[in-house]
Amino acid sequence: MAIVGFPNVGKSTLVNRLTQSRAAVVHETAGVTRDRKELLCDWNGVTFRLVDTGGVDEEDQGPYGRHIADQARAAIAEADLVLFLLDTRAGITPGDEDLATILRAAGKPVIVLANKIDDPRRDVDALEFHRLGLGDPVPLSALHGHGTGDLLDEIVARLPGRDEPVVDESAVRVAILGRPNVGKSSLLNALLGEQRVIVSDVPGTTRDTIDTVLTRDGTTFVLVDTAGLRRKRRQRQGIEYYSELRALEAAERADVALVLVDASEGVVEQDLAVADVARKAGCSTLVVLSKWDASAIDLQETRGLLNRRLRQRPPVVAVSALTGRGLRRMLDHVETLFAKHVTRIPTPALNRAIGELKEARPGPSGERGRRLKLLYATQTATRPPRLRVFVNDPRLMTRDYGYWVENELRARFELQGVPVSIDFQRSS
Ligand code: GDP
Ligand code: GDP
Repeated sequence: MAIVGFPNVGKSTLVNRLTQSRAAVVHETAGVTRDRKELLCDWNGVTFRLVDTGGVDEEDQGPYGRHIADQARAAIAEADLVLFLLDTRAGITPGDEDLATILRAAGKPVIVLANKIDDPRRDVDALEFHRLGLGDPVPLSALHGHGTGDLLDEIVARLPGRDEPVVDESAVRVAILGRPNVGKSSLLNALLGEQRVIVSDVPGTTRDTIDTVLTRDGTTFVLVDTAGLRRKRRQRQGIEYYSELRALEAAERADVALVLVDASEGVVEQDLAVADVARKAGCSTLVVLSKWDASAIDLQETRGLLNRRLRQRPPVVAVSALTGRGLRRMLDHVETLFAKHVTRIPTPALNRAIGELKEARPGPSGERGRRLKLLYATQTATRPPRLRVFVNDPRLMTRDYGYWVENELRARFELQGVPVSIDFQRSS
């Protein structure tokens, strides 16, 4: 990727900004020519080489300097993508027009950057550069950072030659849920920064959503609706972008929900409500105790509490986005949970279990001493599993007995965390 632009538009400032961003790992390599700097940047797992043509000869700094044009041409020739930086305060200069002509002729993908828009309310000022005929200008403040995160996302999206991830039915769709400040964005970013994962973005199914695809050891995870979580981290006045409605939509598209609980604060009622949302949306649930490095709670005790309070009996893992601890194990758990989410219980095994349940606890009795009898069962759907249990008379069913059957089956088939739904139906 090449950065081109006239002196003083802010190229060095932008390079510093891009390479200082938290997710960017920078390796400086010796430039091929004296006044060219090459940097390796890494953004969310995608590596790109940045060629900075900033070091222009002092004596050759006229606006029409041949040197600048030559440098730019050389950089453009090698680049897959060109960042064309302009100074919004100065407006379009004749030199900019020349560079634009070179760029249009080169036919390379270009991102036009309207720099020095320090006040986001002035973003419209960028529109002036439309006139250069190189696409929508991106408003930016290289100095203050406004717009740079979005720019990095745009760069990564526009870089050619990246392998498109294969997202098919076998991909595990994961939603990251939790009340504000539990550490959702931090967890996402820590996951994306893991050494052993490959990351790319794909459009989500609903408008304005972006999903992040993460591949590890041949397993594809689709992190549902990550745009907001990734952007939020860069917002200066952290508004809670991930609203309840948005979270619900994410849960509805997911197989597995990571329900975050802030371990530095302990379990609160709202966490249980989030887990309920996940279960009702049909997600298999993994409770993730976040900020484990700052934990104030006991793991076993918390497991016990969650097991009592949450109907789906979710597995619990402890992680720290800060230290990276537990992340790998968390993904292992997600894989295991997904396998259960899509499980098909063989009918004979299911009916053996029903027989045992019948023995272990007779059904509730109604008026005139008539008792509910479990007869036989079959699985009617998967992802998540849905069972149909035939009984002599469903009107005799009680909530208590229904839950007991659910829990027993969940335990027997090791479906902890999975939202097993059971329809009790009269046998015809
Ligand atoms: P280069 O010659 O293109 O590398 O430009 P520099 O990065 O050296 O920047 C030239 C001047 O513009 C410096 O004084 C920077 O501080 C200033 N500058 C760069 N970006 C911005 C910006 O976004 N806003 C403002 N207000 N000034 C900027
Ligand atoms: P979100 O609102 O759920 O997305 O939460 P954030 O990811 O923005 O995190 C909220 C706060 O918790 C921030 O101040 C983070 O720095 C902090 N935080 C997040 N993860 C960790 C962690 O693993 N350890 C510690 N000590 N703090 C964390």
